[in-house]
Amino acid sequence: MENRPQIILTGDRPTGKLHVGHYAGSLKRRVELQNSGKFDEIYIMIADAQALTDNADNPGKIRDNIIEVALDYLSVGIDPAKANIFIQSHVTELTELSFYYMNLVTVSRLQRNPTVKAEIQMRNFEASIPVGFFNYPISQAADITAFEATTVPVGEDQMPMLEQTKEIVHKFNSVYGETLVEPKILLPDNKACLRLPGIDGKAKMSKSLGNCIYLSESEADVKKKVMSMFTDPDHIQISDPGKLEGNTVFTYLDAFCKDEHFAEYLPEYANLDELKAHYQRGGLGDVKVKKFLNNVLQEELSPIRARRAEYEKNLDEVYDILKRGSETAREKAAKTLAKVKHSMKIDYFEDESFLAEQKKKYSNS
Ligand code: ATP
Ligand code: MG
Repeated sequence: MENRPQIILTGDRPTGKLHVGHYAGSLKRRVELQNSGKFDEIYIMIADAQALTDNADNPGKIRDNIIEVALDYLSVGIDPAKANIFIQSHVTELTELSFYYMNLVTVSRLQRNPTVKAEIQMRNFEASIPVGFFNYPISQAADITAFEATTVPVGEDQMPMLEQTKEIVHKFNSVYGETLVEPKILLPDNKACLRLPGIDGKAKMSKSLGNCIYLSESEADVKKKVMSMFTDPDHIQISDPGKLEGNTVFTYLDAFCKDEHFAEYLPEYANLDELKAHYQRGGLGDVKVKKFLNNVLQEELSPIRARRAEYEKNLDEVYDILKRGSETAREKAAKTLAKVKHSMKIDYFEDESFLAEQKKKYSNS
């Protein structure tokens, strides 16, 4: 539909502080989209209910990270005047929507989800998968459709979730009539940001893997982590030729560095291509490249750190932002739920024809 309002929904699990993988994969883009003026509504969700699906026995961890994630949002530049930051569990309509969507998805379809498969393995859930965890792609479809999201800016690992959501939208609309809005995934343009690896070189920087550089980390800690990063294990002497493939330091440079950084911190090279060529020929040591990456990252992170420090002194304000955002989110989700129940013909008390139909059934007897 041409004139449909443009709506963003995205979010993060409060299982820890946010890291530079989140920043590269989604947060940075969110702020750009927010400031583009092209969106009518923006919803940013702290997915506590989803986080509980694999942390059921650790609710304290989820509780502790609600404010942390909110602080991370505000510190990267999410503006509460433009975007509603909300807490998933407050919007109980989402649970109700999931319950109806569950009827439209088969168990075998859920079993085919590659991200869920990988996560089950990572969490050693093979023999005992919590039903709620198994079901989370459906609950994510509820989150996205409840806000009638047209755009979902996320990292690559979310592609299967968006596919699942689209299938639910199609199925729902074909069974019950045109009701739900089909969302579009928005992946980062920069390939290195699709799935930023951890500092250990593992495929994905992830809170659960403990291989992260957090947005809130001190300058000294970031530097320590950068200096310990995984590179090319065969690049032993400075004179050895180095490999770029699987070399985390270069992946991070692909994600974060711009030509201007060279002029400022490493003027012997004009750009990243020149630096890479030297590394591949041999004669360039890891320490020099790591120091450069550290400068690049610190430049990106220092304003974030400063804004965070301000909000940390103002938790009352952060709390109010969450409360207001959650109320607004709830109103929106309630409207969608009403549409859904109407389409499913289960809105008995809102639908005047319901009783009339029943009466008619008995009027001839
Ligand atoms: P958990 O380990 O608890 O699943 P996580 O680190 O994977 O945490 P999520 O809250 O699941 O983080 O992901 C939030 C958003 O950040 C999603 O859009 C996801 O695609 C994106 N994201 C997470 N990690 C990365 C990464 N390493 N690179 C790019 N995007 C990422
Ligand atoms: Mg995740």
